[in-house]
Amino acid sequence: MMNGMVQRVAVIGAGIAGATCAQALAQAGHAVHVFDKARGPGGRLATRRMAWVDASGQPCTTRLDHGALGLEARSPAFQAFIDDGVRAGWLAEWSPRLATGGRPLERGTRFHVPVPDMPELCRRLLQGITATWSCTVDNLHRNPLGWQVESAGQRLGAPFDLVVLALPPAQAAPLLAPLQDEWARQAALSPMQPCWTLMGVATTAGTAPPRWDLARPAAGPLAWVMRSDARPGRARMHGQAHWVAHARAGWSRAHLEQAPDWVAQQLRAALAEQLGGPVEWLHSTVHRWRYALPPARRCAPAESCWWDAAQGLGVCGDFLGGRGVEGAWLSARSLATALLRHAGAPLTPACCEALP
Ligand SMILES: Cc1cc2nc3c(=O)[nH]c(=O)nc-3n(C[C@H](O)[C@H](O)[C@H](O)COP(=O)(O)OP(=O)(O)OC[C@H]3O[C@@H](n4cnc5c(N)ncnc54)[C@H](O)[C@@H]3O)c2cc1C
Repeated sequence: MMNGMVQRVAVIGAGIAGATCAQALAQAGHAVHVFDKARGPGGRLATRRMAWVDASGQPCTTRLDHGALGLEARSPAFQAFIDDGVRAGWLAEWSPRLATGGRPLERGTRFHVPVPDMPELCRRLLQGITATWSCTVDNLHRNPLGWQVESAGQRLGAPFDLVVLALPPAQAAPLLAPLQDEWARQAALSPMQPCWTLMGVATTAGTAPPRWDLARPAAGPLAWVMRSDARPGRARMHGQAHWVAHARAGWSRAHLEQAPDWVAQQLRAALAEQLGGPVEWLHSTVHRWRYALPPARRCAPAESCWWDAAQGLGVCGDFLGGRGVEGAWLSARSLATALLRHAGAPLTPACCEALP
């Protein structure tokens, strides 16, 4: 690999980690191509479009944020990233009214939420970058021309000089197995907590709406309950409440393989208990996150990304950088810095502090 030349980089995964790394590399002048198995960017920064037909036969739609609740900063660098997003107008502050009697929030009562929906953050970061959606990368191999990225036996794009994997560890492990034994082993062993999520639209007719937007129940299956339509930039419909309820990791793990209908029934009952009475649903569904979050760590991770300069292969994500959106972002930036140093691109604040 020759320093100072434009590098062809494949980034697998378009969540916050992949999008952050892709943006830093593209801004430094490299030719970046992003691949994701989903239909668009965002990963666990997710918003689901729901459609149903109401009692009078009218088609209805809405959108609910069913992944990460929002962004919170511990580090000055991530705080600066948030501040920039607020100034540019694609991040908004959300200070939810908290339900009483529940568990306290760990980091204060202020979140930042991308507007108009959660994937907007990654959309912004990926502006102008080539991307291929709905393609699951299932094989990577190197030949003298460079890296070949494959999906279902099809070669994707021209060969690449560098490859970045920005995936949950269980999804990175099979791709790494033929390339980096030790990383594959560590990724396969990296624990990730699952999460069953209930989301739906209920009528508020005839019921007094709760005086809170966010609850952390002290007991029962639910860890978080949020009123999605109380968040900034989200549509609020008269006579409706939009609920998203995340089950606890332990409950989700115990019922991971249960039928969605059964899970929905359990979580609807738990939500009704939290709301203090029956809920009249217009529409509801559940989503199973197999890999929602790494467990909270007592110590900072030893490494915040993996980089193999000899192969031109890097890995980033929340399982390396620390729990949550901020950890994924920090991991991606540390990988981008290593890659830019290797590729010989100008390592200036403009490319490393890359902000949309
Ligand atoms: C229910 C829930 C609640 C959460 N709450 C919070 C919170 O309040 N605060 C917080 O900070 N964090 C929260 N998180 C965690 C946060 O969302 C993640 O830490 C962060 O978004 C991870 O980003 P990432 O880029 O590392 O991974 P991801 O967002 O998972 O991105 C990985 C991408 O890779 C793609 N992909 C996977 N395999 C392949 C493949 N083989 N080929 C191609 N593409 C592939 C996926 O489609 C995905 O788009 C929550 C997560 C969930 C699920």
